[in-house]
Amino acid sequence: MVNLVLLGAPGAGKGTQAKMLAGKYGILHISTGDILRENVGNNTELGKKAKGYMDKGELVPDSVLIDIIRDRLSRPDTDNGFLLDGYPRTIPQAEALDNIFSQLGKILDVVIDIEVPDEELVARLAGRRMCKCGASYHVTFNPPKEDGICDVCSGELYQRDDDTESSVKTRLVAYYNQTHPLIDYYTNKGLLRTVSGTGGIEDIFGEITVVIDKILE
Ligand code: ADP
Ligand code: AMP
Repeated sequence: MVNLVLLGAPGAGKGTQAKMLAGKYGILHISTGDILRENVGNNTELGKKAKGYMDKGELVPDSVLIDIIRDRLSRPDTDNGFLLDGYPRTIPQAEALDNIFSQLGKILDVVIDIEVPDEELVARLAGRRMCKCGASYHVTFNPPKEDGICDVCSGELYQRDDDTESSVKTRLVAYYNQTHPLIDYYTNKGLLRTVSGTGGIEDIFGEITVVIDKILE
C-alpha cells in the first residue's frame, strides 16, 4: 500500500501517469481538478464558486480545496492507498494536508515531482483533448486512433475550457509563484523524488514505478 502525491506544472503529465499508476498499484486516483470540474458540470454551489477561478487559470481558494480534500480522504475507500493529483498546490494546502494525515492516522510515503520545460508544457496543454469517460489525449504526442474520437468509449473529444492561451499563461505563473515552493517543502521533509517528464509516456511511467517499488520494498 502506498500514499503518494504527484507534483508538477500544469501539463507535466500528472493525470496521464496517475491513471496508469492507479491501475498498476490498485490505488485510488484523487484529482482535485476532476472533482472541481465535476462540480462545475453539475452546477453545484462548489462548482459555481470555483468556475470563475478555473476559467481564468487562477487557483481556487485554499479553504475550498482543504475542505474538499479532508472530506475525500476521510472516506474508507482511501484505506488501501491513494495518489493525489493536483493537490497540494500551495504551502497552506500542504500544511493542512499534514494535519489531515495526522488526524486520520495516515502517512505520506513519497512526493514525486515530474519536471518538464515550459515550452513543452505550453505545447502539451494547447494540444490536449479530453473525453467525458476520463481518457485524455494529445493531438500530436498521444493521438487517438481516429481523429477526435475516444479509443476507449468512442465518445467525442473536446478541449478543456482552461486550455486557452491566456489561461495557460496564468496557470504557469500560478505554478511558479504558489506551487513551486512545495519542492523545497517536501525536500526538507525528505519525501521528494524527481523524475524527468520529457520523453515517452511509457518511459516516464517506468521511472516512476522504480521510485514507488523502492518505497514498497
Ligand atoms: P497534467 O495532468 O499534469 O496537467 P496531462 O496528463 O493532462 O497533464 O498531460 C497534458 C498533455 O500532455 C495531454 O495532452 C497528454 O496527452 C500529453 N502528455 C502527457 N505525457 C506526455 C509525454 N510524456 N510526452 C508528450 N505528451 C504528453
Ligand atoms: P488541473 O485539472 O489539476 O489542471 O486543475 C484545473 C484547475 O482547477 C486549476 O487551474 C485550478 O483553478 C483548480 N484547482 C485544481 N486543484 C487545485 C488546488 N489544489 N488548489 C487550487 N486550485 C485547484
